[in-house]
Amino acid sequence: MTSIPSELHDLTVTQLSNLLQTRQVSALESAQHFLDRAQSHAHLGAFLDMNTEATLAQARVADARLACGNAGPLEGIPIAHKDIFVTQNFVTTAGSKMLAGYRSPFDATVVARLAAQGAVTLGKLNCDEFAMGSGNENSAYGPVKNPWDVTRTPGGSSGGSAAAVAARLILAATGTDTGGSIRQPASFCGVTGIKPTYGRASRYGMVAFASSLDQAGPMARTAQDCALLLSAMCGPDPDRDSTSLDVPPEDFSQSLGDTLSGLRIGVPTEFLGAGLDLDVRAAVDVALRQYESMGAKLVSVSLPLTRLAIPVYYVIAPAEASSNLSRFDGVKFGYRAPDYQDLNDMYRQTRAQGFGNEVKRRIMIGTYVLSHGYYDAYYLKAQQIRRMIADDFQQAFKLCDVIAGPVAPTVAWKLGGHSHDPLADYLADIFTLPASLAGLPCMSLPVGLGSADMPVGLQLIGNYLTESRLLNVAHQFQQATDWHQRQPARL
Ligand code: GLN
Repeated sequence: MTSIPSELHDLTVTQLSNLLQTRQVSALESAQHFLDRAQSHAHLGAFLDMNTEATLAQARVADARLACGNAGPLEGIPIAHKDIFVTQNFVTTAGSKMLAGYRSPFDATVVARLAAQGAVTLGKLNCDEFAMGSGNENSAYGPVKNPWDVTRTPGGSSGGSAAAVAARLILAATGTDTGGSIRQPASFCGVTGIKPTYGRASRYGMVAFASSLDQAGPMARTAQDCALLLSAMCGPDPDRDSTSLDVPPEDFSQSLGDTLSGLRIGVPTEFLGAGLDLDVRAAVDVALRQYESMGAKLVSVSLPLTRLAIPVYYVIAPAEASSNLSRFDGVKFGYRAPDYQDLNDMYRQTRAQGFGNEVKRRIMIGTYVLSHGYYDAYYLKAQQIRRMIADDFQQAFKLCDVIAGPVAPTVAWKLGGHSHDPLADYLADIFTLPASLAGLPCMSLPVGLGSADMPVGLQLIGNYLTESRLLNVAHQFQQATDWHQRQPARL
């Protein structure tokens, strides 16, 4: 630590942790500071629910444990959760009217694991409805504003998480990534975020969108902070998530400090072609050259099926969503239409009123591709190509240790910019979908500013279970540059 910034919100998780452990600041003071800050920045639309009493109670417990002297590094650290994770102390809406006012009888595993490590929950963060979107504009509770330019989107679907970290309303947040929802908002808001290998983090208590893709991960300002949070979030959960990997919890900070000398960075030619804005390309190129100057070797690799990732994902994800969302029927959860004639009409009215347009669109697409006569032509075919996309990555990893490229083709667009064109949102996912379909760990770190002085992220993709190396590759960049320290001008 070089110097301690005067304001708590300018600290990293690691720095605040040091102050808490040495009792230079209490968890209660810190929680109060961040609660006040969240309230004074309510115009960003990042928070959907807060519960001051619950937050302060958690902070008091953290202080008691810190006083005993054997607390872990997350003890007393204020965080907030994407509103996709169910929580007992806060309302969980998944950004949908369907779950307005819903209170879960239990905490999601990821939430419980972070709480067990002493993290203090400040509240729930806005997101696209059921995590379907790329701009946070599909939330039933209004859009989130990008703190770098409040006329622009923060990205999505974890837009509230990215905006809250970028605006320093919290030092770290949870997000979820099905097809890019951690990486793309991290890129748009100039913060760092990682999606681990599929199955690393338990999906228990994550409101399901597309179960074979959904994965939780942290968002923070630095890779070092992400490593701390990710270590707490991951680990097997065999009784509650059958796809949870049977690999022991890992300390993802263990490789921070390894040299990059000799590291082979694969750059997929398909990620740098037409469709990539020149300002993003320029920032990515400078970042790659920075890696070269640090001893890494750039190698050209090919992911030939990249262009098929969009149609494949937009068959598989809606198919799974249409099945997952059948549970919202006005009987078991949340909203029920006030007026109806009979049972079928109750279902119809409830779902017509409770779901937003994008969710309805996906339920219709998903139902169609799963229906008799179309299943083989669409769903099965998409699954076959998904396997081929995963195989292409394995070919590429014969030539390189990590893959690097852009996260999104553009910087954050203007709010409302895609509102009449859902396809524009889908197309913007081109570079994040392949790694999601393959279940690979992947992250975004800020590496520059593009047009309109908006942040640009670099995507790093690793082979299965190589999160530690991935985080170190990002960490070394952040040791050598200061893009992760930049912040929006007007805060
Ligand atoms: N933008 C993608 C979608 O709308 C990804 C969303 C996500 O990762 N949750 O499906």
